[in-house]
Amino acid sequence: NNFEGDQSGDKRPRQTPGKFYGKAEPTPVKKVTLLAWSDDLAKELEIERPVDQHDIDILGGNLVTPSMQPYAACYAGHQFGNWAGQLGDGRAITLGERQISSGKTWELQLKGPGLTPYSRRADGRAVLRSSVREYLMSEAMYYLGVPTTRALSLVSTGERVMRDMFYDGNAEYEPGAIVMRVAPTFLRFGNYEILTARQEVDNLTKLVDWTIDRHFPHIQGEDRVMTWYKEVVERTAAMIVEWLRVGFVHGVMNTDNMSILGLTIDYGPYSFVDDYDPNFTPNTTDLPGRRYAFGKQAAVAKWNLACLAGAIAPLIEDEEKLREALESYDSFYWNKYFQIMANKMGLDEVRPADTTFIQDFEKMLKTVKPDMTIFFQLLIDLFENPDNDDYLGHFKESFYKELKQNEMDEFMSTMKTYVERIKTNTITQNEALERMRKNNPRFILRNYLLHQSIEQLEGGDDTLFVKLQEAMKDPYSKRFDEFFAKRPEWATQKAGCSM
Ligand code: AMP
Ligand code: MG
Ligand code: MG
Repeated sequence: NNFEGDQSGDKRPRQTPGKFYGKAEPTPVKKVTLLAWSDDLAKELEIERPVDQHDIDILGGNLVTPSMQPYAACYAGHQFGNWAGQLGDGRAITLGERQISSGKTWELQLKGPGLTPYSRRADGRAVLRSSVREYLMSEAMYYLGVPTTRALSLVSTGERVMRDMFYDGNAEYEPGAIVMRVAPTFLRFGNYEILTARQEVDNLTKLVDWTIDRHFPHIQGEDRVMTWYKEVVERTAAMIVEWLRVGFVHGVMNTDNMSILGLTIDYGPYSFVDDYDPNFTPNTTDLPGRRYAFGKQAAVAKWNLACLAGAIAPLIEDEEKLREALESYDSFYWNKYFQIMANKMGLDEVRPADTTFIQDFEKMLKTVKPDMTIFFQLLIDLFENPDNDDYLGHFKESFYKELKQNEMDEFMSTMKTYVERIKTNTITQNEALERMRKNNPRFILRNYLLHQSIEQLEGGDDTLFVKLQEAMKDPYSKRFDEFFAKRPEWATQKAGCSM
């Protein structure tokens, strides 16, 4: 296409001013073995499950067919609030785009295929641990109904990768793996930021025009860049509300990890919250500031959108309008948030008084810190039988701690108000229950389950890994209630970096 890249194929780390990408062939690995394959996604992509080693090799970068043009994208980013300059795909290589019969296109990308010009001081590889986490979680988010990139396959490489896990100078070797991930595009806020930082306004115009033409074709007319930005604001806000709905914490919301399509992207040290704690961050490197904690994600997303606004400002005449578009984030976000919470709680609508009550309800959750997933499942049960006023007994199973008197009081009075409120619903009980069941997952990929399945896999046993793949496809049902339990004592919710 019409984007200029560095065509040298040189993988030595370097700056690539003026270029959108650097050509980069995957580095072959010892032996590509298929560990997981997403049948549903494959169907969507019109790809058959590979059987021959020849085809499997493609999934590990050992075979590049003539129609592929592998490259690593150049982007920048703000990391933990600071400008980080050029970053780029350090361990991801796009093989190309696949157009399916409907005309829709999908970008196919390997994660962990070796060095690119953007690998800097790292190796361009991924370990089995982080690859399993990306593979399972991106697919799980899809089945939860959260906007996300997808994963088609997971392969092992037959090689061991060095990781400095414990930051104490002791190198750890771990099995290597590669995920083939898939999205309409992997463009991030950072792809636009770098062009502006380098004062490459012509290139910025080119990229923005292409983004709108290809991925936002419904946007037309004079003000289309503004309209586009506003849509990115709305999609991003909608994604965050979905994260809060299911209790997801991304953990590394740097602007290079923010998809321009509003998809959840770059699964690293993410986690679901178990006990409801807005301060929880799963990222050990985020511990001092907790910038990316569960409850801060909405604010950080807006901060990131401000960076994007700064990046596209050279294309906008009326900067005041751009500011207004950024500010529209708040009302859009809160409307969506209250609507989703109302659905989770089985309210028929969001009445003026409900916005205060929903916030009180959240405050109560913050105080009691029940298991979020179990609590909302028990709320469904309570809804079916609201005359049961032994709330403490009813929700006991979701508590991680003994409640103090004042905590109990707050809990009891909030639940009383809740039951009074739902009695005024104008929709039928069944309708409300339907909404609750659709919006409250019963199965989530808890961190300790991921951890266990990875340990097993490393020892050659894929029992749990296979089971989790089944369960995550049906997260709103009771079919996998063997996993319907609080996080066990030994796996206390703590930060755990999973690069
Ligand atoms: P992340 O925090 O995973 O989004 O990564 C931030 C930047 O570091 C991106 O440019 C990544 O491509 C790069 N990076 C992370 N891990 C590696 C690795 N093992 N080898 C090369 N680059 C990496
Ligand atoms: Mg990243
Ligand atoms: Mg990462």
